[in-house]
Amino acid sequence: MRNRFAKIVATVGPASSAPDTTRLLHDVGVDAFRLNFSHGSHDDHAKAIKNIRNISKETGNAISIIADMQGPKLRVGEFPGGGIDLQYGDKVSLILATNTDQPNTIPVNHPELFKALEAGHRLKFDDGKLQVTILSNDGKTISANIDVPGRLSNKKGINVIGAVLPMSAMTDKDKTDMAFALKQDVDFIALSFVQTPKDVIDARKIIRDKAGIIVKIEKPSAVEQLDEILEHADAAMVARGDLGVELALEQVPVVQREIIRKGRALGKPVIVATHMLESMIDSPTPTRAEASDVATAIYLGTDAVMLSAETAVGRHPATAVAIMDRIISAAENDTEFLDYFQNRRMRHDATSEDAISHSVRGIAEILGCRAVMAHTLTGSTAQRMSRERPSCRIIGLTPLTSTANRLALSWGVKPIVTSDPASFDEMLKDIQVLARERLNLSPGDRVIISAGIPFGRPGTTDTLKIATID
Ligand code: PGA
Ligand code: MN
Repeated sequence: MRNRFAKIVATVGPASSAPDTTRLLHDVGVDAFRLNFSHGSHDDHAKAIKNIRNISKETGNAISIIADMQGPKLRVGEFPGGGIDLQYGDKVSLILATNTDQPNTIPVNHPELFKALEAGHRLKFDDGKLQVTILSNDGKTISANIDVPGRLSNKKGINVIGAVLPMSAMTDKDKTDMAFALKQDVDFIALSFVQTPKDVIDARKIIRDKAGIIVKIEKPSAVEQLDEILEHADAAMVARGDLGVELALEQVPVVQREIIRKGRALGKPVIVATHMLESMIDSPTPTRAEASDVATAIYLGTDAVMLSAETAVGRHPATAVAIMDRIISAAENDTEFLDYFQNRRMRHDATSEDAISHSVRGIAEILGCRAVMAHTLTGSTAQRMSRERPSCRIIGLTPLTSTANRLALSWGVKPIVTSDPASFDEMLKDIQVLARERLNLSPGDRVIISAGIPFGRPGTTDTLKIATID
């Protein structure tokens, strides 16, 4: 069992999709894998999913699979050599195409750009790393001046500064990808560039309860309507890559903190994403600032931290995960780590579930309990306990694999698939076996058990029992 509360999400890509590598990433710390539908074919994703589900079977560990939709993100097309070098001060042309071998030309397959861009508008590429200013646009060819040079490689993202493009929240590609992902039984669908609550409501009509919805907060309009958007979502991602381009950079940490705080208050997992160990794409060790950034997200109480290019295309995918694991553990071992959460008051719903979850935190602290065993059908009880940020592990016991997989993303929750006991006495017996065989607990260790009796009905958590392992 992992020795930490916060979770690690890793993006699968060419550097990590080989079955042995994916397995290694899980072994060294990955709790959830993200499949980036901006890259790769359905066949690639199907293979990755099969592979991850196999790892779950082999290890007995629940793992979340997140299908991340491209959304209405503009991207450059493909270059013969995989990319082109943009030189400072040079001019470059943009043409409407998916690929090109013309020199100094960027293919972009987005007619909207040729309709909307005018001289003076700016385009940023690759999460804002490169920038050009538009000189002219005749509807077929856009000419631009290179302000911030660098290498532009295949499929990198484009952000438009100064112009608003009319684009729908869900593209045709998203609809196809979503149908595919749902058929593959992924655990979460991540929605990119959500702007309004309606974007989430519309997606929910398609997704229903087949997967959880992660809203990626990366647009100024999403930040403005954060409360309403979170209300309709199951989880949120602080998508700092695009957020830092769309918003002033100094707003990124402010918004990050706000999303983590609000996500916790609602009992919905939050993932902090992008640039966390960016230098590890090439280097075997992160910078001090990166280590500190991961720790800061942990101190703020994020449920999960995410690796993108580090594990998708980086040179040291497993090392990046292992280092992230160490940074998280060190931050959580800080004696003030849990105090921070106790000092933040939260509103409780007048439900037995919230009353029990809140009590669990106090009991665990007073008795030094090693774990709380939360019987949960939908995952809701384990999620409400996670929100309390108790000092002990939350064991989410559920008969549903889908619930277990989703809970793998939540702070402090170790999901275990197990059949519901037939009676209260049987429950107590089962817990003893589980404690010794799966949780490495010793005689004398105390645990808390929560359940809804009789078992098998959602929303009935009403029982709290303190037990000692014998
Ligand atoms: P992306 O999302 O990697 O799909 O762009 C994350 C982000 O924008 O940070
Ligand atoms: Mn993004």
